[in-house]
Amino acid sequence: MKRNDLVALVDCNNFYVSCERAFDPRLAGKAIGILSNNDGIIVALSNELKALGVKRGAAAFKLPPWFIKKHDIRLFSSNYTLYGDMSVRVMQVLSTFTPELEVYSIDEAFLSLKGFENRDLTAYCHEIRQTVQQWLGLPVSVGIARTKTLAKVANRVAKKFPGVGGVYNMVDHPRMDKVLSWVAVEDVWGVGPQYARMLRKEGIENAWQLSQAAPNWIQQKMTIVGLRTVRELCGISCIDMELDIDPKKEIISSKSFGMPVDDLHLLQEAAAAYCSRAVEKLRAEHQVASMVMVYLTTNRFKEEPQYANYQQARLPVPSAYTPDFLVLVHALLEDMYKRGFNYKKVGVMLSEITHQSKAPLDFFAPTYLDDERKTIMDCVDGINRRWGSHTMDYAAIGTLQPWQMKREFLSPHYTTRWGELPVVRAL
Ligand SMILES: [Mg+2]
Repeated sequence: MKRNDLVALVDCNNFYVSCERAFDPRLAGKAIGILSNNDGIIVALSNELKALGVKRGAAAFKLPPWFIKKHDIRLFSSNYTLYGDMSVRVMQVLSTFTPELEVYSIDEAFLSLKGFENRDLTAYCHEIRQTVQQWLGLPVSVGIARTKTLAKVANRVAKKFPGVGGVYNMVDHPRMDKVLSWVAVEDVWGVGPQYARMLRKEGIENAWQLSQAAPNWIQQKMTIVGLRTVRELCGISCIDMELDIDPKKEIISSKSFGMPVDDLHLLQEAAAAYCSRAVEKLRAEHQVASMVMVYLTTNRFKEEPQYANYQQARLPVPSAYTPDFLVLVHALLEDMYKRGFNYKKVGVMLSEITHQSKAPLDFFAPTYLDDERKTIMDCVDGINRRWGSHTMDYAAIGTLQPWQMKREFLSPHYTTRWGELPVVRAL
């Protein structure tokens, strides 16, 4: 038991929407929806859009034009390049406030505040909040507590009650019962829908009731994991900070096409594009891989002939040289391809990944790490970092790319492409 644990959970408010607003102040107060890949459904919405009764997961085409016009609703294609880059910036800012940061999701992080006991924690977290707002233009909410599960609860309070100013401190709270009673049991961190249903049947409807449940009974019904959650609700820290991110075991890159594709050459183009993206990620983490798998599939929701298949191949020695993989990807597709089908998706997966420092070298032939291939790749990555991604690309990925997914309402890549920097005019 670590009685003195202190942790803050920082979570960005309406993250995707806020990223769009950060670069276009005219969007403040507007009803905004962010669309999924191929602009199909609404995956994120601003509070204003929620207030109009629109729900997450709604099909975009079901919003009638008059409705969109009447409420001045703005819809955006998801700009994951922008959100990913803003996420990295948020984490960089947060890491200046604590020696121990756990990146929990794209827009959420736990900050250990151990050793900060003598500070005014609420004031400190207001400072965090103001810094992110001022430096990045993104609003965040902060919950402070003795355990991660309680910090999640505190964050929820900070978000739901504007009166608290975006920061809620639950450390040694005098009315724990009152706060926890307000949280529905299915909203407790770590309680899945199935356990929630079981608990409700047993009369446990909120976090306070859960915290008061008999430990033996909980362990019997919900295993040690459930017991941990209950103890955490009681202020006993049981879930440690996860500080080192596991190196990726595999890298997958795939997207649905913006239109059905039946031509082998176009499938190869798309697969080459996803493959080069995956190998780029591999290099960014200083890794090499030796296995590559390619899969392709038709649209199983359509009533037409169906076909899906996958195949994999292994490189003789691990590599991170894109052309090594492109050759395999092309050959695999050619092997699997069948004429006369409308393909919906192709994907590439890299596996058998190792860190470059642990990669085996070959006694008889040069490997990626000890010949000019690494030099060439480092050079390509350097150019793309300096001048923007896709400055230098492989001819194999094509130029017209008619298979690209539909993103008709995409905002600019404000932070990652020189040509799309926001322009500020002083009048
Ligand atoms: Mg969030």
